[in-house]
Amino acid sequence: MRETRNRETRNAERGARNSRFGTGARHACSAFRLPRSAFAGLALLALVSVPTRSPAQQWPVHSMDRPRPPVVDAGPERPPLAPPSDAIVLFDGKNLAQWQAEDSTPAKWIVRDGYMEVAPRTGAIVTRRGFGDVQLHVEWAAPVPPRGESQDRGNSGVFLMTHYEVQVLDSYHNDTYADGQAAAVYGQTPPLVNATRPPGQWQSYDIIFHRPRFASDGAVRDSARVTVLHNGVLVQDNTVITGWTVHGRRAHYQPHADRLPLLLQDHGHPVRYRDIWIRELKE
Ligand code: MG
Repeated sequence: MRETRNRETRNAERGARNSRFGTGARHACSAFRLPRSAFAGLALLALVSVPTRSPAQQWPVHSMDRPRPPVVDAGPERPPLAPPSDAIVLFDGKNLAQWQAEDSTPAKWIVRDGYMEVAPRTGAIVTRRGFGDVQLHVEWAAPVPPRGESQDRGNSGVFLMTHYEVQVLDSYHNDTYADGQAAAVYGQTPPLVNATRPPGQWQSYDIIFHRPRFASDGAVRDSARVTVLHNGVLVQDNTVITGWTVHGRRAHYQPHADRLPLLLQDHGHPVRYRDIWIRELKE
């Protein structure tokens, strides 16, 4: 829980604005000279320009009334595949050379038998190098036997660019708010389906992430987008990320660098990871 509070503090909103909506001031000069058909076009333009709420914002954050995605059996766990030749291997089961703690001290998580395991309350770990647009492969396993319920069960997280969490949670027969279950964009968008395997079994996330683009004044020019396959099943389909993923509040963007570390969350549970590789996408 300490990590959660740290994250909330670190992610505290500082008033960045999202200019994606509401920038639609269009100047229709002298409509009287336009042919009648142009009015339909103008009306459509006006509709497009009306600020709208993204699907992620149509429910209150962490609403327990929000429908849970249907459960899909993704099939049995599979052995890891060799990474593609142009991938940067972030964890091959041997050591944490590519990782460090957030304060730049050595990462304190446990490495054994080809996997790493969260050492609870030692803090998150981050990659030594930063990334922008990426394809990412991560495998994880929730603790067995399962303990706790809702968010207090097998909780960790894959934070793209340190700020955008694809939730890791034991969502196998474990109810929680839809925007906080496994493969949710935390606090924003539930997965399309719940493809979670039982705790103790290896599960995969294949993620395609496009970072946000900020204008020189810090306004959001393009929101981040993410596609996620959970155990090979599509669960996020080019989902718009509405800002830094935070607990209990609406997300907002704050401008940041074009490349930032990938972060794995310590939520106090001994979640395991293996076979992590990343491909940088040409921007
Ligand atoms: Mg988490």
